[in-house]
Amino acid sequence: MQLPSAEELKKAIKNTQKKPMPSQNAKERVNNFNEVALGYTEEDALLEAARCLGCKTEECRQGCPVDIAIPDFIKKIKERDYVAAALKIKETSSLPAICGRVCPQESQCEQYCVRGKKGEPVGIGRLERFAADYERAQGAIEIPDIAPANGIKVAIVGSGPAGLTCAGELAKLGYSVTIFEALHVAGGVLMYGIPEFRLPKDIVQADIDYVRQLGVDIQANVIIGRTMKVDELMEQGYKAIFIGTGAGLPNFMGIPGENLNGVYSANEFLTRVNLMKGYRFPEYLTPVRIGKRAAILGAGNVAMDSARCAKRLGAEEVYIVYRRSEKEMPARAEEVEHAREEGIHFHLLTQPVEIQGDEQNWVRELVCVKCELGEPDASGRRSPINIPGSEYGIPVDTVVVAIGQSPNPLIQTTTQGLNTGRYGTIEADSDGQTSRMGIFAGGDIVTGAATVILAMGAGRKAAAAMHKYLKNV
Ligand SMILES: Cc1cc2nc3c(=O)[nH]c(=O)nc-3n(C[C@H](O)[C@H](O)[C@H](O)COP(=O)(O)OP(=O)(O)OC[C@H]3O[C@@H](n4cnc5c(N)ncnc54)[C@H](O)[C@@H]3O)c2cc1C
Ligand code: SF4
Repeated sequence: MQLPSAEELKKAIKNTQKKPMPSQNAKERVNNFNEVALGYTEEDALLEAARCLGCKTEECRQGCPVDIAIPDFIKKIKERDYVAAALKIKETSSLPAICGRVCPQESQCEQYCVRGKKGEPVGIGRLERFAADYERAQGAIEIPDIAPANGIKVAIVGSGPAGLTCAGELAKLGYSVTIFEALHVAGGVLMYGIPEFRLPKDIVQADIDYVRQLGVDIQANVIIGRTMKVDELMEQGYKAIFIGTGAGLPNFMGIPGENLNGVYSANEFLTRVNLMKGYRFPEYLTPVRIGKRAAILGAGNVAMDSARCAKRLGAEEVYIVYRRSEKEMPARAEEVEHAREEGIHFHLLTQPVEIQGDEQNWVRELVCVKCELGEPDASGRRSPINIPGSEYGIPVDTVVVAIGQSPNPLIQTTTQGLNTGRYGTIEADSDGQTSRMGIFAGGDIVTGAATVILAMGAGRKAAAAMHKYLKNV
């Protein structure tokens, strides 16, 4: 590959736009589940890194929830020392290849990048992904120094980004760490929720293998609260416990017809498609009936993922139905753009009020009303108000409800003395300490549905707090 000349790199500083991400063409990609964004080449990465001014003030760092030394890692890319760039990121982020793909950079680090004032910010996420992928492709992933085993047992409940990060950090400190995971596969939403075309599962698996190589034991198919309670773990000699059970309980709209055949929660739909490999039916025996027309209710990342999966499973028409306007859509801008490119239709300012079925109780039509926006609600977003007489029907075969998830209440209801919040979350301080000594929590179970990087950051902080606690018991 031809690398950019000194002259080209000098010129690149003046580019006001990010180097585009090479991607699969929209017409082709709707027929497969392969990754859409193909990643920067070395040439792309060098040209994009050249746009970074290496600001002394490091504005971009303010927007990173785990405080990655952004200008420093970009400098390593400029110096063509890509493994060093990856190691710099890994000083504070344990999952760079994943975060480089799924973090909402536009509302985090890139929002603060000074280059965004006149043109586009530096493509920080794209460069993060490049460095992490380079390191993996070289087989250069090093196992860090691990402190001598101290014989102290700690348990981690849940193997999403919060649990995996907390486990990895504690293993490095010499603890004997066991993760208990309810599903048959580790990884949490990274495995069962986010589709292959956005986050290839071999990348997630590589991070899980890395945590195993640090010495962490992962026990799958164990539901804490059913198979074993948290207090029983304590009786078995686990001196501290981290709960990272996420927010996997689907919310429903409470409208008539949600129990019809052909209505899925986004959780069930995405689990069937991703974890149970429904997209490779009949090679994998997980049928996902989609029909010709599918409506997805909601406009977050989960809704975009569901819509794009429905399209790839063969639905001819896929509609996102959302009661607010484009401006309020919670999904990442890139996901919305990709969905549009793939031909997903958007019914905005539209409130579903009923799902109607045929004589065999299969979904036939989604009844909606048009809305207008009123005053802002508690979330700060303008509330939708139904417009009288605006009712209309959208003929559909499948409805996927993607309006949010809540924490699963199992642990909270089977563990004495654990304080919970209004929406069923576990209450914990900023270090993850809950109302029970020795029990820590972090990630979506504490914050409600949030992001991978926040869950990872919470796992890291809790590991430090657990270490401090265990030194004093
Ligand atoms: C479809 C989808 C798309 C998303 N897209 C993005 C995105 O693009 N960018 C982004 O930053 N975030 C995204 N998110 C959000 C992000 O994935 C979550 O915020 C993050 O995974 C939370 O991590 P966690 O470790 O707290 O929980 P999870 O990832 O939910 O993991 C929790 C784990 O705990 C296990 N568990 C639950 N109860 C028990 C129990 N009783 N015993 C044992 N194990 C248990 C679960 O099986 C699961 O494996 C998305 C979420 C979804 C659902
Ligand atoms: S703010 Fe932007 S230009 Fe400045 S160091 Fe950070 S990434 Fe580079």
